[in-house]
Amino acid sequence: TDDPDREFDAQPTVCPFCGVGCSIEYAGNGTTGGTDGPVNERGEICPKGAAAFDVVAHEERLTEPLVREHGHTVTAPWDVAMDRAVEGLRSVVAEHGPDAVQFFASSNCTNEENYVFQKLARVLGTNNVDNCARLCHASTVAAMGERLGAGAMTNTLDDLATTDCLLVTGANPAEQHPVAFRSYLLPAVQDGATLVHVDPRANDTTDAADIHLPVRPGYDIQLLNAMTAVLLKEGLVDESFVAERTTGREALADHLADLDVAATAREAGVDPDDLRAAARAYGEADAAAAVTGMGMSQHRSGTDNVHALLNLALLTGNVGRPGTGVNPLRGQNNVQGAGDVGALPGVLPGYEPVTDPEARERVAAEWSVEPPAEPGLTEVAATHRFGEDVHAAVVFGENPAVTEPNATDVAAAFERLDCCVVIDLFETRTAELADVVLPGSSWAEKAGTVTNTDRRVLRMRPNADRPGDARRDLDVLTELGRRLTDRPGAFRYDGPEAVFDELTRVSPLYAGMSYEGIGDGAQRWPFPADAESGTDVLHAEAFATGDRTAPLTPVDPVPPADELGPDELVLTTGRVLQQFNSGALTRRSPRLMAMRDEDTLRIHPEDAAARGIEDGDPVVVSNDRGRVRVPAEVTAAVRKGTVFCTFHYAEPLVNALTGDALDPVAEIPEFKHSAVAVAPAPAT
Ligand code: SF4
Repeated sequence: TDDPDREFDAQPTVCPFCGVGCSIEYAGNGTTGGTDGPVNERGEICPKGAAAFDVVAHEERLTEPLVREHGHTVTAPWDVAMDRAVEGLRSVVAEHGPDAVQFFASSNCTNEENYVFQKLARVLGTNNVDNCARLCHASTVAAMGERLGAGAMTNTLDDLATTDCLLVTGANPAEQHPVAFRSYLLPAVQDGATLVHVDPRANDTTDAADIHLPVRPGYDIQLLNAMTAVLLKEGLVDESFVAERTTGREALADHLADLDVAATAREAGVDPDDLRAAARAYGEADAAAAVTGMGMSQHRSGTDNVHALLNLALLTGNVGRPGTGVNPLRGQNNVQGAGDVGALPGVLPGYEPVTDPEARERVAAEWSVEPPAEPGLTEVAATHRFGEDVHAAVVFGENPAVTEPNATDVAAAFERLDCCVVIDLFETRTAELADVVLPGSSWAEKAGTVTNTDRRVLRMRPNADRPGDARRDLDVLTELGRRLTDRPGAFRYDGPEAVFDELTRVSPLYAGMSYEGIGDGAQRWPFPADAESGTDVLHAEAFATGDRTAPLTPVDPVPPADELGPDELVLTTGRVLQQFNSGALTRRSPRLMAMRDEDTLRIHPEDAAARGIEDGDPVVVSNDRGRVRVPAEVTAAVRKGTVFCTFHYAEPLVNALTGDALDPVAEIPEFKHSAVAVAPAPAT
């Protein structure tokens, strides 16, 4: 119910959870309702959106700052906490330089906040700023950026509804992007499009699929290479597109000439006839669209996995037209925008490389200070260096002690910092390890913009005032900027619109946008300054690289980092409909917890029987990194030899088991393949 001490005011804003970008607003009595918006045109929302207000009014919201005293956090006035944060960070910079500080930006906060956050890092003198895109789609962005010149969805949700074939690889949109699935993807299937679902675990998306390819975790390249070989062998190639818009066809054909489709399909864990049928459906469709997710990206071969997928799209001419393309579905409401505005260590706002002198000069003209020219540290690489050459962290609305792999080591690494400042709504596991915790503002208490999965910038509007002494995130960040850097004037803004205006002057992608232009609708990037609108379908005449052609690239399989020992199974992690990321928000929602209040280990009946495990039994899952106890859920939905668990629950801390092997290009961890032993739990 409403808190009598707080003011609530319904205004259309954007759901704080997945990247679909549904419009929601306060609906009274502590509930959220959908409202007609650019994406959810009829006000549709999913269970998470409906529960969004539960976190806003939650009794555990931080309403005062916390500081660490004698190993424990205690409440403190704002001036004391801010002084402690500023002095701690300044002292590390004075002793070790600005590159000794790592900035964790937030994919769950606005473009304006993330823009100011990365500006703070760079004006201080470091490019050590990253966001949790590093943990989800960094490899997708790297591969698509290299080949096509842009790492975002090539197409739009609207035109995916017009496709003839959907190849959904490593994604489960029916549960993770429910409104996009029901409003855009499912209508295409109901209209006759073939849905091919590549996933080691059958789930709600599989229920709508014509063909399910239950790929072995870590064998996506074999599967996609085999599909590409079928296209080449059976003449399902768009010859005119390949001639006009690609290079490297001969090298790719030579690379796959001797590939044994049946043997490679079996190596990838799928039926050869099903794989051939999938390749034919994709190759014969007038318009075929690939939709890709973290089942592809979260491997040490994540970048190469997406390269293999891009070969399929380019070879069949499925780029640059409606209903086609390669379309990463983004998992958080502003993970797209956090990258767009430069909260990444290698790029400035608009994905301009920090190594480009012209890009640095363009930023310097606005900031009066030039950003460093060397790329900074990614967030996982940084935590590996805590206590060595990284001595401080500013963590803005993220929970890396739960979400990073090998999480027990990550928590220990946070203890090695000289100064850790966390800005968050709750005392998360990471906040428990901080020296200073500053209470921030929730989605319902802020104005600004976010950018959804199909590149649409949408306005957020406040629906509630803040609890207690919690402050606006933008106010906290600008105060840090004024007090930490020698450019205090660069952090004086008259509200979020002024920040957005500066962003449009700095980022060519957003140059033509404005708050007024977005209004109750949306504007899509790229939106050049002299254009009347943004661009829906990318790469139509030329690729975003500026070239008319993109390369076809041979891709070799990369073995997973963890080798399976005798009797070990592959643990693959993922998400469920009712929870969100580290669970810091959704585990505080009574209505979502009523739907799913605990994690389970999904295990195939034969693997369970071989270990004497029955449905519901507590089991111990272990490897040399960690050990967790969790109830078993015996189900044939998961492939034999593979077990599945989410990472939503701090208990069990499943990321204690995941490895920190990184993709060499994108430095994304291999969450999707960890060797584990599974055994009945001893009686407690
Ligand atoms: Fe929110 Fe995504 Fe659900 Fe829409 S589909 S209501 S954006 S979680």
